[in-house]
Amino acid sequence: MNARIQPKGLTALQFDNRFLRELPVDPINSNTPRQVIGYCASRVLPAKVPQPQLVAYAQEVADLLDLSAEECQSDSFTEIFSGNRQLPGMDPYASCYGGHQFGNWAGQLGDGRAINLGEVINRQGQRLALQLKGSGRTPYSRSADGLAVLRSSVREFLCSEAMHHLGVPSTRALSLILTGEQVWRDMFYDGRAKQEPGAVVCRVAPSFIRFGNFQILAARGQTELLRQLADYCIRTDFPHLGEPSPAVYQQWFAEICRSTAEMVLHWMRVGFVHGVMNTDNMSILGLTIDYGPYGWLEDYDPNWTPNTTDAGGRRYSYAQQPQIALWNLVQLANALYPLFDEAEPLERALDGYQAQYQQGRQTMMAQKLGLTAFDAETDETLVTELLAVLQLVETDMTRFYRLLADLKVDDLTAENANTAELLTPLLDAYYIPEQLTAAHRLRIGNWLRSYGDRLQKEGTQEASRKQRMNAVNPNFVLRNYLAQEAIDQAEKQDFSRINELLEVLRRPYDEQPDKQQFAGKRPDWARQRPGCSMLSCSS
Ligand code: AMP
Ligand code: MG
Repeated sequence: MNARIQPKGLTALQFDNRFLRELPVDPINSNTPRQVIGYCASRVLPAKVPQPQLVAYAQEVADLLDLSAEECQSDSFTEIFSGNRQLPGMDPYASCYGGHQFGNWAGQLGDGRAINLGEVINRQGQRLALQLKGSGRTPYSRSADGLAVLRSSVREFLCSEAMHHLGVPSTRALSLILTGEQVWRDMFYDGRAKQEPGAVVCRVAPSFIRFGNFQILAARGQTELLRQLADYCIRTDFPHLGEPSPAVYQQWFAEICRSTAEMVLHWMRVGFVHGVMNTDNMSILGLTIDYGPYGWLEDYDPNWTPNTTDAGGRRYSYAQQPQIALWNLVQLANALYPLFDEAEPLERALDGYQAQYQQGRQTMMAQKLGLTAFDAETDETLVTELLAVLQLVETDMTRFYRLLADLKVDDLTAENANTAELLTPLLDAYYIPEQLTAAHRLRIGNWLRSYGDRLQKEGTQEASRKQRMNAVNPNFVLRNYLAQEAIDQAEKQDFSRINELLEVLRRPYDEQPDKQQFAGKRPDWARQRPGCSMLSCSS
């Protein structure tokens, strides 16, 4: 039989731009900032850039689009994903959304510097929307320039992929391209603006719909359009729920609550702090979206936020994330309320979030400790004391859990062992071991003893415990300083570190002995350096 050869590559991408086809689109085609009322999107072309240069691309994302390495390294690819040229079938647009920023309703926001190129249906039949970030002004840019700089684009590119490989639901990143343009930025809003290289990232996700897309319609009292968007979203992104109906709306919202809880649980597990959990940065699919001033917990400090803009209120600190996600879901529930006859199903789903989060947290903590199940009777105390112990002195969360997996139950439970010395194998997790007083050592040792007793009671095999722990406690995360080092080199036209990190972060749970330098604690020079410990929304 003669197998038919299917065309491959950029020109073979199959577009099916359902968002534009099924939802009302702004009839004005100019990118002048304005209120766009009564429409879900505005057509707008990406700005042309003078000298696009490919910095990096993610082959796994290219694979999703059936694009070969050769194709990704072609000039056409760079032209297309810098926004200079469109493929047949692309129909670029920016979408309209609103949002609560830092707890306050901010009105219309929208894709101010993101331009959707179109939706690809890949060979598996999956729908994947392509979106350029940093491609110039749109009607939603307000007073800003619609651009992005290399620094923030490297951070978005690397972290999207790192999160995916960590098993955290996230939007993906196909490519990172320098534009050849310089962009003015005032990194710390202190009047010290400087020029930085401009860049464009191509993001990929089944859908980029945010809580804010619904909120803006509800805020404007456009119930019919709200219903239209909800029905569209259910049919396109939640087809397993069936045709929209009152019962399906309930299941839909319950599912949004569930996937949001799941996403936040993963953040807490790997020590990720989003930094700007505004409702416009919440994906309807429970994907991590909009990598801005995010950061990774190094020293375990639940109140830590990477975002200097939020340093006062710490609204978006690590420990706040589960509550803030709930607060955001409440705002979404308020927006969707006109589609419901009663509040009860919405409230039930929100209660479901709390229950799911609590239960999920227990399971997650049990997994992090290598326990096969969480025993409510004993383990709440065990976990509470662990989290207290982690805060006694500066302790690297990621290193701590990895080293914990190496400890032997017999050593922890030995009658004649010196309790204060039990932590010796964990010393590499401590930033300043000299900070550990005798009292600290004893308290940590006591916790280790109770942990050993708990493991002994469960009778788990040492080897399988280590394997299970190392499957949920990453060895490699995109530590803030690692991203910054890659940025510093990229600004000097050396992209090797970006590609090296991309490669290492593909297997974040593996040992990778020749890359162990990327698993170590943050070096001391990075403690107070901008980009390593302090970030702002300026990007
Ligand atoms: P963010 O805090 O990055 O999620 O952005 C909030 C809003 O500001 C969104 O509507 C963004 O599209 C918009 N925005 C952020 N930076 C820019 C920029 N440089 N140009 C235009 N719009 C922007
Ligand atoms: Mg945003």
